[in-house]
Amino acid sequence: MEIINPATEEIITQIEVDDQNQIFHKFDLLQRGFIEWSNKSIQERISCIRKFHQLLIDEIESSADILTNEVGKPLAQSRSEIIGASQRIQFFIDKSPQYLEDEWVHRSARLNEKISYEPLGIVANISAWNYPYLVGVNVFIPALIAGNAVFYKPSEYSLLTGLNIQKLLFKAGVSENVFQVARGGADVGELLLDLPLDGYFFTGSNATGKYIYQKVASKMVPCQLELGGKDPLYVAEHNKDLKKVAQAAADGVFYNNGQSCCAVERLYVHRNVYDHFLKEFLNEVDKIEMGDPKKPGVNLGPLTRPQQMDVLDLQVKDAIAKGAQLLKGGHRVSGTGYFFQPAVLVDVNHSMSVMKDESFGPVIGIQKVKNDQEAVELMKDTKYGLTASVYTDHQDIAEKILRSMDTGTVYWNCCDRVSARLPWSGRNHSGIGITLSHIGIRTFTHPKAYHLQNPK
Ligand code: NAD
Repeated sequence: MEIINPATEEIITQIEVDDQNQIFHKFDLLQRGFIEWSNKSIQERISCIRKFHQLLIDEIESSADILTNEVGKPLAQSRSEIIGASQRIQFFIDKSPQYLEDEWVHRSARLNEKISYEPLGIVANISAWNYPYLVGVNVFIPALIAGNAVFYKPSEYSLLTGLNIQKLLFKAGVSENVFQVARGGADVGELLLDLPLDGYFFTGSNATGKYIYQKVASKMVPCQLELGGKDPLYVAEHNKDLKKVAQAAADGVFYNNGQSCCAVERLYVHRNVYDHFLKEFLNEVDKIEMGDPKKPGVNLGPLTRPQQMDVLDLQVKDAIAKGAQLLKGGHRVSGTGYFFQPAVLVDVNHSMSVMKDESFGPVIGIQKVKNDQEAVELMKDTKYGLTASVYTDHQDIAEKILRSMDTGTVYWNCCDRVSARLPWSGRNHSGIGITLSHIGIRTFTHPKAYHLQNPK
């Protein structure tokens, strides 16, 4: 498999893809390692993860370089991703013992009841490329701490990072019998679906997620999906500082080139502040510096996958054909690299793909609304349910709107953020199941119910 640098279109290296025999061999290793690993004390397992955490920090420069080379995100964003991942790992190190220890829920002279949290076994972590450290550590760190063995399938677009993660885990003392990387694309992912694994944890597109859910259904094992979104942000009437709101919204739209599951993908603005907000938002777009992701000051690199430029191009053309105005960008940059000019569309509506389908790129539609009720109706007009955000000076207005959202996460005066302390989940077509928080620590376990009756 050729690994291409999306900024230069050069081949970085070639990697040998796993065939079926290699996948069987790796599965065999994991079967051998699981029992021993799960029988270790949680503190022993955590001590390996602590070393991995330290190695991530020690080797941040080389790891960030690998990430930027293969996915094209600006170097500063690669570093922030690794720092963010190390903070999440610290959360798991600190909190897992408390949430994985046996829980006594009833004690009396005759009857005692407790819950113990047993590992699932050998689990697949089939992952995405857009934040390979962040979405990876959400799964393989708590899975390992809970005593599982992990068959990790990084995306083919972030395979070098996947191999780097494996290198650091092995260096930290995690055995090759406990963590293995499956190298390759969809075909190799398919091979994992055919194995008798004990759980499937997937991060990626809606289409692949649905397929995997159906494919593994008959195995009767946990299958969790973290999928895409079409996340709305509403700028309500009362906002003292619209410049600040515009800055935050532009960051939510364009950070990582819009290639974030919880990127802001739709903007609704109250008509009384629409003109002012739009002016401030366009100013923010003008400040974006697109170019070589290794150059200091550049905050927008190339898209990771060339085919996404066609998706964006079609969305822009569809919107214009249906009456939208393109105020900025909206086309592929000629020359080398998968660069796409950040696009701002206005006069948009929900007949247009740009307001309904995940863009996963630097394209945004901004729709004027007459009141909060219209904003809520439009925000809810989606098959997705990942996040929703409201900007207003009034908490009561925000909370009323946010309560009505059918999404896993809601934001007041912030957007496009994830906290390790809170559950991360999508509803409807954005996914099933939870990572992060104390709930996400227990995701990788079977709770066993003990009814212990004293004969006396
Ligand atoms: P993708 O679905 O193309 O690929 C994801 C993974 O699935 C890759 O490792 C790929 O090789 C593998 N795969 C593809 N076909 C497969 C098959 N038939 N069987 C088994 N494995 C298969 O998604 P992507 O392009 O890597 O990721 C982008 C998507 O992920 C976006 O929709 C984004 O919103 C979503 N995402 C969601 C979250 C979240 O937390 N909800 C986080 C990051 C990304």
